[in-house]
Amino acid sequence: MLNPNYQLMIFTDMDGTLLDHDTYSWQPAIARLSQLKLLNIPVICNTSKTYAEVTQLHQSLSLDAPFIVENGSAIFSPAPKNSSSQKPIPDNKALHQLGSKRAEILQLLTQLRQQGYLFEGYSDWSLEQIIQHTGLTKQQAQESATRIYSEPLIWLDSEAKKQEFIQQVNQAGFSALQGGRFLSVQGQCDKGQALNWYKEQFEKDKQKPVITVALGDSANDIAMLEAADVSVWIKSHKAFPSLKKSKQVFTSSKLGPDGWQQTMAHILHLYSTDQLVKLS
Ligand SMILES: [Mg+2]
Repeated sequence: MLNPNYQLMIFTDMDGTLLDHDTYSWQPAIARLSQLKLLNIPVICNTSKTYAEVTQLHQSLSLDAPFIVENGSAIFSPAPKNSSSQKPIPDNKALHQLGSKRAEILQLLTQLRQQGYLFEGYSDWSLEQIIQHTGLTKQQAQESATRIYSEPLIWLDSEAKKQEFIQQVNQAGFSALQGGRFLSVQGQCDKGQALNWYKEQFEKDKQKPVITVALGDSANDIAMLEAADVSVWIKSHKAFPSLKKSKQVFTSSKLGPDGWQQTMAHILHLYSTDQLVKLS
């Protein structure tokens, strides 16, 4: 039996969480995703991926909830079924935008490079180089290059220089968040702010309180896991980042989608036996 007083809502990171870090497979989580669909529990992708990438993944995974792109930069409604992800990106169609325009971000990065900071990013790379850095297929790499709110970088200098760079980015009114592969330079937004915006809209529209569950594997998921009622660290090849919150925090013992389906089974059990509480 599901708790009729609350709507459970899942916010999930993609790379290294619902998708395997290396192969991008979601196979181990398929049965659990079908179960969530039957229970009318929405699964909201909250990812550093682009609108085009998530639109494609939505079709492959049969997802139909709104989704959050480019590390909390914007929230979109799902595209109509079978629509091509190669169409121009409807940035004016976002339900809500929290991020900054990529042109402004690239302008800042040009200035910082002139000051001697060493990095490379999507805007420096050919499609072939994007494929080398990500392991994506050609079509996926094209979709991942259609960014409107962020620039993923690899850092080419010391950790100390990287911290100095992040400080400069912050002072200029932007932010730099570390994901599993890339350091993302973007507006002053994060996955947590986007989760809160969507949850509040939903609660206002449906007049029903939401218990939020967030699943992630990297530092760029910290804000989302701090904002959620139930927080899940999916095991990766790095240590679990630490959270300020301690209530309803879980960790998976398996990697990526195996860990996703494992912890989701546990959370659904807790939810159906009324053992989850709303914290925020
Ligand atoms: Mg990740």
